Amino acid sequence: MEDLRIGQLTKRPERKPDPHRPGGFLPNRRRAKAGLNRGILAAGWGLLVQRLEDKAAGRVEKVNPAYTSQTCSICGHRAPGNRESQAVFRCVACGHQANADVNAAVNVAAGRAVSARRETLAPVSPKREPQHATSA
Ligand SMILES: [Zn+2]
Repeated sequence: MEDLRIGQLTKRPERKPDPHRPGGFLPNRRRAKAGLNRGILAAGWGLLVQRLEDKAAGRVEKVNPAYTSQTCSICGHRAPGNRESQAVFRCVACGHQANADVNAAVNVAAGRAVSARRETLAPVSPKREPQHATSA
């Protein structure tokens, strides 16, 4: 699962001071509503992750989503230029093209988190099942 920083997503938006009313603030319903929507989404996501952790204890991994949208899910090349647009991912190294969200989701599923220092964790197959001892 993508490790969303829910605390930050649910943070109340900052309000701008009103220049005509000392100590007052400008109303910003649009930002407040966007913040509320993000909060609702984040809370739903948090509940889903919690429920999965309850149902599949030890099998849920939270993956830092940093750079998953810039990293090619096929060859692993990471570059801001891979992101052709908000929706289109096109790898400048191997030419792989996909929906940007799908490419990022494959990276998250593979546990392909990349640190800011460009260290890549060993790739893990998204089809991997945890190994359990069998009593055969
Ligand atoms: Zn590539």
